[in-house]
Amino acid sequence: MAQESSSLATKRYAVVTGANKGIGYEICRQLASNGILVVLTARDEKRGLEAVQKLKDSGISDDLVIYHRLDVADPDSIVSLAEFVKNNFGKLDILSLDDQVITSSNLTIPIYLIKIKHKVNNAGIGGVALEADACQRAFEQTGEFPSGEQVWAEIGTQNYEMAEQCVKTNYYGARGMAEALAPLLQLSDSPRIVNVSSLLGLLKNIPNEWAKGLLNDVENLNEDRLDEVVNEFLKDFKEDLLGSKGWPTYLSAYVVAKAAMSAYTRILAKKYPSFCVNCLCPGYCKTDITANTGPFTAAEGAENAVRLALLPDGGPSGCFFYQKQMLPCF
Ligand code: NAP
Repeated sequence: MAQESSSLATKRYAVVTGANKGIGYEICRQLASNGILVVLTARDEKRGLEAVQKLKDSGISDDLVIYHRLDVADPDSIVSLAEFVKNNFGKLDILSLDDQVITSSNLTIPIYLIKIKHKVNNAGIGGVALEADACQRAFEQTGEFPSGEQVWAEIGTQNYEMAEQCVKTNYYGARGMAEALAPLLQLSDSPRIVNVSSLLGLLKNIPNEWAKGLLNDVENLNEDRLDEVVNEFLKDFKEDLLGSKGWPTYLSAYVVAKAAMSAYTRILAKKYPSFCVNCLCPGYCKTDITANTGPFTAAEGAENAVRLALLPDGGPSGCFFYQKQMLPCF
């Protein structure tokens, strides 16, 4: 029994968002391969359950991956996921493993807190309607991620509704998850948050000096200031003022939302000094969001996120990584 309680005490738990496919799915595989129990979340139950089954079929142990529904753009869905985690892992008396329920009465340990340790905010959308063939042609021509207004005029169209949804998913979704799960992360002795951002969200890609200044003012950065930037962007988008107000003119919402997510990573790192909270660009990977273009596989992109999820205690926090490299400014 002592052995049982000590193995429970060292058990580690992770939540991964947007994990039914692409980089998120591979993050789940790699975390589970490291013996971590992963809550694979997806907004669509069928896709989520299929992903769990696929992991199990590929050799991941049944008790290392479980599905829970999560639409990061829906605050109620975030609450329900946080309750699920709390009820299943965040309390002493009920631990659900492989459909078995172990109650505290079966254990000799007096007090034991099951803690959620790792959280990877991976779910994301492009905020554009992508022309897959045009995207693939552009990639084949240069071997690089397509860039430039003219190129993007062929590849993707964007409108206000898409922009709003992109900000809601890529920035507010990650923020909502961090807010909801921080209390459970605080119960961990080595909490980690990994925000899957993008090089596209680097400040150099936002010509608007006011927004750039605000996002770069690390000392005074807070959630209200991020709201200000994001709201101003959406207002200018609605009024067709993107170019004249110095916002990016293609992949506009994606760039602004990822910049906000990266800045929010700094806020979180300051607010929770005992956490390692970092963001990263996983690299240009072949997944649905890139119309399956790019030099890297989803698994290679995932490795970069998993490295941050498994950082040793005392590791960096509030930083931006591009693959293995820490960038000095973002
Ligand atoms: P992907 O294959 O398109 O996967 C995106 C995932 O996010 C899917 O599981 C999708 O679910 C999910 N998702 C979208 N909206 C959601 C919502 N409201 N709630 C919950 N899940 C939602 O793309 P990926 O490349 O793996 O992207 C993963 C992350 O990496 C994204 O944040 C992306 O911005 C970032 N990233 C990717 C690249 C790259 O080159 N691939 C580069 C830089 C950053 P559905 O299947 O239901 O749509």
